[in-house]
Amino acid sequence: MLSSKAVVLGENVACDGHDNRRFRVVTHAHYDHVYGLKESLLRCEAVYATPITRGMLTVLYSRRAEGIKTINYGEPVMVGDEIMMFYPANHIPGSAQVLVEDSDGFRALYTGDFRLPGAPIIEADVLVIEATYGHPRCVRPPIEDVYHALISLVESEIKKTSIHVYGFYGKVQEVMEVLRRSGVDAPFLAQGRMYEVTEVCRRHGMKLGEVVNADSREGLEILKSGGCVYFKHSSKLGEHVNGVKIHLTGWQFKCTYRRISEDTYRVSLSSHSDFNHLLAYVEDCKPKLVVVDNSRDGYGEHFASEIRRRLGIKAIASP
Ligand SMILES: [Zn+2]
Repeated sequence: MLSSKAVVLGENVACDGHDNRRFRVVTHAHYDHVYGLKESLLRCEAVYATPITRGMLTVLYSRRAEGIKTINYGEPVMVGDEIMMFYPANHIPGSAQVLVEDSDGFRALYTGDFRLPGAPIIEADVLVIEATYGHPRCVRPPIEDVYHALISLVESEIKKTSIHVYGFYGKVQEVMEVLRRSGVDAPFLAQGRMYEVTEVCRRHGMKLGEVVNADSREGLEILKSGGCVYFKHSSKLGEHVNGVKIHLTGWQFKCTYRRISEDTYRVSLSSHSDFNHLLAYVEDCKPKLVVVDNSRDGYGEHFASEIRRRLGIKAIASP
Protein backbone atom coordinates (compact mmCIF):
# COMPACT_ATOMS: atom_id res chain seq x y z
CA MET A 1 0.00 0.00 0.00
CA LEU A 2 2.77 2.43 0.88
CA SER A 3 6.05 2.25 -1.01
CA SER A 4 8.51 4.80 0.33
CA LYS A 5 6.48 8.04 0.34
CA ALA A 6 3.87 6.97 -2.21
CA VAL A 7 0.36 5.95 -1.16
CA VAL A 8 -0.91 3.48 -3.77
CA LEU A 9 -4.70 3.25 -4.24
CA GLY A 10 -6.12 0.43 -6.36
CA GLU A 11 -4.05 -0.72 -9.33
CA ASN A 12 -3.11 2.51 -11.04
CA VAL A 13 -2.87 5.53 -8.72
CA ALA A 14 0.09 6.66 -6.61
CA CYS A 15 -0.45 9.65 -4.31
CA ASP A 16 2.14 12.05 -2.84
CA GLY A 17 5.20 10.11 -4.01
CA HIS A 18 6.37 8.46 -7.23
CA ASP A 19 5.66 4.78 -7.86
CA ASN A 20 5.55 2.93 -11.13
CA ARG A 21 1.81 3.43 -11.66
CA ARG A 22 -0.03 4.93 -14.60
CA PHE A 23 -1.34 7.93 -12.64
CA ARG A 24 0.00 10.25 -9.94
CA VAL A 25 -1.90 12.51 -7.54
CA VAL A 26 -0.58 15.42 -5.48
CA THR A 27 -3.06 15.91 -2.62
CA HIS A 28 -1.72 19.38 -1.72
CA ALA A 29 1.23 21.69 -2.19
CA HIS A 30 3.27 21.03 0.98
CA TYR A 31 6.82 19.82 0.24
CA ASP A 32 6.38 16.42 1.93
CA HIS A 33 3.64 15.50 -0.57
CA VAL A 34 5.54 16.46 -3.70
CA TYR A 35 8.20 13.70 -3.62
CA GLY A 36 9.20 12.39 -7.04
CA LEU A 37 6.96 14.83 -8.91
CA LYS A 38 9.56 15.44 -11.60
CA GLU A 39 9.71 11.72 -12.33
CA SER A 40 5.92 11.40 -12.24
CA LEU A 41 5.55 14.24 -14.74
CA LEU A 42 7.97 12.45 -17.06
CA ARG A 43 6.71 8.88 -16.68
CA CYS A 44 3.01 8.87 -15.70
CA GLU A 45 0.14 9.07 -18.18
CA ALA A 46 -1.24 11.94 -16.10
CA VAL A 47 -0.54 13.77 -12.85
CA TYR A 48 -3.65 15.12 -11.12
CA ALA A 49 -4.28 17.84 -8.55
CA THR A 50 -6.94 20.47 -7.81
CA PRO A 51 -6.63 23.77 -9.71
CA ILE A 52 -5.44 25.69 -6.64
CA THR A 53 -2.85 23.02 -5.77
CA ARG A 54 -1.45 23.25 -9.29
CA GLY A 55 -1.29 27.05 -8.93
CA MET A 56 0.55 26.78 -5.60
CA LEU A 57 2.96 24.15 -6.97
CA THR A 58 3.81 26.41 -9.89
CA VAL A 59 5.03 28.95 -7.30
CA LEU A 60 6.53 26.61 -4.69
CA TYR A 61 7.88 23.75 -6.79
CA SER A 62 8.54 24.60 -10.42
CA ARG A 63 6.99 25.88 -13.61
CA ARG A 64 6.95 22.22 -14.62
CA ALA A 65 3.82 21.89 -12.43
CA GLU A 66 1.91 23.52 -15.28
CA GLY A 67 1.93 20.01 -16.81
CA ILE A 68 -0.42 18.78 -14.05
CA LYS A 69 -4.02 18.06 -15.04
CA THR A 70 -6.63 19.58 -12.76
CA ILE A 71 -9.79 18.02 -11.41
CA ASN A 72 -12.35 19.54 -9.06
CA TYR A 73 -13.84 18.03 -5.93
CA GLY A 74 -16.59 15.56 -6.74
CA GLU A 75 -15.60 15.20 -10.41
CA PRO A 76 -15.12 11.50 -11.29
CA VAL A 77 -12.14 10.53 -13.46
CA MET A 78 -11.42 7.13 -15.02
CA VAL A 79 -8.00 5.79 -14.01
CA GLY A 80 -7.72 2.62 -16.08
CA ASP A 81 -10.87 0.63 -15.25
CA GLU A 82 -11.21 2.25 -11.82
CA ILE A 83 -12.88 5.53 -10.86
CA MET A 84 -11.13 8.25 -8.88
CA MET A 85 -12.69 11.19 -7.08
CA PHE A 86 -11.35 14.09 -4.97
CA TYR A 87 -13.07 15.35 -1.80
CA PRO A 88 -12.17 18.45 0.24
CA ALA A 89 -9.64 17.83 3.03
CA ASN A 90 -9.88 21.24 4.79
CA HIS A 91 -6.11 21.16 5.39
CA ILE A 92 -4.89 24.03 3.21
CA PRO A 93 -6.44 25.68 0.15
CA GLY A 94 -6.80 23.06 -2.60
CA SER A 95 -6.06 20.03 -0.40
CA ALA A 96 -7.89 16.84 -1.37
CA GLN A 97 -8.83 13.40 -0.09
CA VAL A 98 -8.65 10.75 -2.81
CA LEU A 99 -11.09 7.88 -3.34
CA VAL A 100 -10.45 5.07 -5.84
CA GLU A 101 -13.23 2.56 -6.50
CA ASP A 102 -12.84 -0.59 -8.63
CA SER A 103 -15.47 -2.25 -10.83
CA ASP A 104 -16.54 -4.52 -7.93
CA GLY A 105 -17.29 -1.47 -5.78
CA PHE A 106 -14.22 -1.92 -3.55
CA ARG A 107 -13.26 1.49 -2.18
CA ALA A 108 -9.82 2.70 -1.11
CA LEU A 109 -9.56 6.15 0.42
CA TYR A 110 -6.52 8.29 1.30
CA THR A 111 -7.22 11.30 3.50
CA GLY A 112 -3.93 13.08 2.77
CA ASP A 113 -3.40 15.75 5.41
CA PHE A 114 -6.85 16.75 6.61
CA ARG A 115 -8.71 18.62 9.34
CA LEU A 116 -11.99 18.01 11.09
CA PRO A 117 -14.39 19.61 11.45
CA GLY A 118 -14.79 20.72 7.85
CA ALA A 119 -13.64 17.75 5.77
CA PRO A 120 -16.35 15.25 4.76
CA ILE A 121 -15.90 11.74 6.17
CA ILE A 122 -15.98 9.25 3.29
CA GLU A 123 -16.88 5.59 3.85
CA ALA A 124 -14.37 3.09 2.45
CA ASP A 125 -13.20 -0.53 2.67
CA VAL A 126 -9.56 0.46 3.12
CA LEU A 127 -8.63 3.77 4.71
CA VAL A 128 -5.16 5.27 4.46
CA ILE A 129 -4.91 8.05 7.03
CA GLU A 130 -2.28 10.53 8.21
CA ALA A 131 -1.23 10.52 11.87
CA THR A 132 0.66 13.77 12.44
CA TYR A 133 -1.12 14.19 15.78
CA GLY A 134 -1.95 10.53 16.39
CA HIS A 135 -1.19 10.56 20.12
CA PRO A 136 -3.79 11.16 22.88
CA ARG A 137 -1.77 14.06 24.24
CA CYS A 138 -2.35 15.95 20.95
CA VAL A 139 -5.71 17.57 21.64
CA ARG A 140 -6.53 21.19 20.88
CA PRO A 141 -9.31 23.63 21.85
CA PRO A 142 -12.16 24.06 19.28
CA ILE A 143 -10.96 25.99 16.24
CA GLU A 144 -13.56 28.74 16.68
CA ASP A 145 -12.04 29.46 20.12
CA VAL A 146 -8.58 29.60 18.56
CA TYR A 147 -9.79 32.00 15.86
CA HIS A 148 -11.40 34.16 18.51
CA ALA A 149 -8.21 34.30 20.60
CA LEU A 150 -6.11 35.11 17.54
CA ILE A 151 -8.44 37.93 16.46
CA SER A 152 -8.43 39.45 19.97
CA LEU A 153 -4.65 39.26 20.11
CA VAL A 154 -4.23 40.99 16.74
CA GLU A 155 -6.83 43.66 17.55
CA SER A 156 -5.15 44.59 20.84
CA GLU A 157 -1.51 44.46 19.65
CA ILE A 158 -2.05 46.27 16.34
CA LYS A 159 -2.93 49.47 18.26
CA LYS A 160 0.61 49.48 19.70
CA THR A 161 2.90 48.02 17.06
CA SER A 162 3.33 45.90 13.94
CA ILE A 163 2.53 42.19 14.05
CA HIS A 164 4.58 39.48 12.35
CA VAL A 165 2.62 36.26 11.78
CA TYR A 166 4.56 33.04 11.06
CA GLY A 167 3.04 29.90 9.59
CA PHE A 168 3.16 27.39 6.74
CA TYR A 169 1.87 28.06 3.23
CA GLY A 170 -1.90 27.83 3.18
CA LYS A 171 -2.41 28.22 6.92
CA VAL A 172 -1.19 31.81 6.63
CA GLN A 173 -3.75 32.56 3.90
CA GLU A 174 -6.48 30.97 6.05
CA VAL A 175 -5.55 33.42 8.83
CA MET A 176 -5.60 36.38 6.43
CA GLU A 177 -9.16 35.44 5.51
CA VAL A 178 -10.21 34.94 9.15
CA LEU A 179 -8.83 38.34 10.17
CA ARG A 180 -10.44 40.17 7.23
CA ARG A 181 -13.79 38.47 7.92
CA SER A 182 -13.65 39.67 11.53
CA GLY A 183 -13.09 43.27 10.38
CA VAL A 184 -9.31 43.69 10.80
CA ASP A 185 -8.51 46.33 8.17
CA ALA A 186 -4.82 47.02 8.93
CA PRO A 187 -2.46 46.78 5.94
CA PHE A 188 -1.36 43.20 5.20
CA LEU A 189 2.14 42.52 3.88
CA ALA A 190 3.80 39.43 2.45
CA GLN A 191 7.00 38.86 0.53
CA GLY A 192 8.48 36.49 -2.05
CA ARG A 193 6.82 33.09 -2.29
CA MET A 194 4.39 33.88 0.53
CA TYR A 195 3.17 36.84 -1.52
CA GLU A 196 2.91 34.73 -4.69
CA VAL A 197 0.99 31.94 -2.91
CA THR A 198 -1.35 34.63 -1.55
CA GLU A 199 -2.02 35.82 -5.10
CA VAL A 200 -2.78 32.24 -6.22
CA CYS A 201 -5.29 31.90 -3.36
CA ARG A 202 -6.89 35.21 -4.29
CA ARG A 203 -7.21 34.17 -7.94
CA HIS A 204 -9.08 31.07 -6.75
CA GLY A 205 -11.60 33.06 -4.76
CA MET A 206 -10.23 33.50 -1.23
CA LYS A 207 -11.32 36.82 0.28
CA LEU A 208 -8.06 38.30 1.54
CA GLY A 209 -8.57 42.03 0.97
CA GLU A 210 -5.52 43.97 -0.14
CA VAL A 211 -2.15 42.32 0.54
CA VAL A 212 0.86 44.47 -0.35
CA ASN A 213 4.15 43.07 -1.62
CA ALA A 214 6.63 43.91 1.18
CA ASP A 215 9.40 44.45 -1.39
CA SER A 216 7.48 47.17 -3.23
CA ARG A 217 7.92 50.87 -2.48
CA GLU A 218 4.44 50.92 -0.92
CA GLY A 219 5.36 47.90 1.22
CA LEU A 220 8.52 49.55 2.52
CA GLU A 221 6.57 52.68 3.44
CA ILE A 222 3.91 50.69 5.29
CA LEU A 223 6.64 48.86 7.20
CA LYS A 224 8.23 52.16 8.24
CA SER A 225 4.99 53.66 9.52
CA GLY A 226 4.03 50.48 11.51
CA GLY A 227 0.59 49.17 12.48
CA CYS A 228 0.59 46.46 9.81
CA VAL A 229 0.35 42.65 9.80
CA TYR A 230 3.30 41.03 8.03
CA PHE A 231 2.79 37.36 7.08
CA LYS A 232 5.83 35.10 6.83
CA HIS A 233 6.87 31.47 6.56
CA SER A 234 7.55 29.64 9.86
CA SER A 235 11.19 29.15 8.91
CA LYS A 236 11.78 32.88 9.57
CA LEU A 237 10.57 32.78 13.16
CA GLY A 238 14.10 33.24 14.56
CA GLU A 239 14.63 36.65 12.95
CA HIS A 240 14.73 39.92 14.86
CA VAL A 241 11.80 42.26 14.24
CA ASN A 242 10.37 45.51 15.53
CA GLY A 243 6.97 44.45 16.76
CA VAL A 244 5.17 41.41 18.11
CA LYS A 245 5.52 37.88 16.74
CA ILE A 246 2.65 35.40 16.47
CA HIS A 247 3.63 31.82 15.67
CA LEU A 248 0.82 29.64 14.28
CA THR A 249 1.57 26.07 15.35
CA GLY A 250 -0.25 22.79 15.83
CA TRP A 251 2.15 21.84 18.62
CA GLN A 252 0.51 24.13 21.15
CA PHE A 253 -2.07 22.03 23.01
CA LYS A 254 -4.73 22.58 25.69
CA CYS A 255 -4.89 26.42 25.54
CA THR A 256 -5.71 28.66 22.57
CA TYR A 257 -2.49 30.64 22.87
CA ARG A 258 0.47 31.23 25.13
CA ARG A 259 2.90 34.10 25.54
CA ILE A 260 6.30 32.46 25.34
CA SER A 261 8.53 35.54 25.59
CA GLU A 262 8.36 39.31 25.89
CA ASP A 263 7.39 39.74 22.23
CA THR A 264 6.27 36.28 21.04
CA TYR A 265 2.94 34.47 21.22
CA ARG A 266 2.26 30.89 20.17
CA VAL A 267 -1.26 30.28 18.83
CA SER A 268 -2.72 26.76 18.73
CA LEU A 269 -3.74 26.84 15.07
CA SER A 270 -3.18 23.65 13.10
CA SER A 271 -4.18 22.60 9.58
CA HIS A 272 -4.39 18.99 10.81
CA SER A 273 -6.91 17.00 12.80
CA ASP A 274 -6.03 16.49 16.43
CA PHE A 275 -6.07 13.03 18.02
CA ASN A 276 -9.80 12.99 18.77
CA HIS A 277 -10.66 14.06 15.23
CA LEU A 278 -8.38 11.42 13.69
CA LEU A 279 -10.12 8.77 15.74
CA ALA A 280 -13.58 10.16 14.86
CA TYR A 281 -12.71 9.94 11.16
CA VAL A 282 -11.73 6.28 11.42
CA GLU A 283 -14.88 5.42 13.35
CA ASP A 284 -17.28 7.07 10.88
CA CYS A 285 -15.41 5.86 7.78
CA LYS A 286 -16.23 2.26 8.88
CA PRO A 287 -13.24 0.65 7.12
CA LYS A 288 -12.34 -3.03 7.24
CA LEU A 289 -8.66 -2.10 7.32
CA VAL A 290 -6.80 1.07 8.26
CA VAL A 291 -3.31 1.78 6.95
CA VAL A 292 -1.68 4.59 8.90
CA ASP A 293 0.81 6.62 6.87
CA ASN A 294 4.09 6.14 8.73
CA SER A 295 6.29 7.73 6.08
CA ARG A 296 5.78 11.32 7.19
CA ASP A 297 6.02 13.15 10.54
CA GLY A 298 3.77 11.90 13.29
CA TYR A 299 2.74 8.94 15.39
CA GLY A 300 2.05 6.21 12.81
CA GLU A 301 2.74 3.11 14.94
CA HIS A 302 1.13 4.58 18.02
CA PHE A 303 -2.04 5.69 16.23
CA ALA A 304 -2.46 2.25 14.63
CA SER A 305 -2.35 0.66 18.09
CA GLU A 306 -4.89 3.18 19.43
CA ILE A 307 -7.28 2.30 16.56
CA ARG A 308 -7.00 -1.42 17.32
CA ARG A 309 -7.44 -0.93 21.06
CA ARG A 310 -10.18 1.72 21.11
CA LEU A 311 -12.20 0.86 17.99
CA GLY A 312 -11.43 -2.84 17.46
CA ILE A 313 -10.63 -2.18 13.78
CA LYS A 314 -7.71 -3.85 12.04
CA ALA A 315 -4.96 -1.24 11.67
CA ILE A 316 -1.33 -1.26 10.59
CA ALA A 317 1.31 1.42 10.20
CA SER A 318 3.15 1.45 6.87
CA PRO A 319 5.92 1.53 5.81
ZN1 LIG B 1 0.31 19.37 4.59
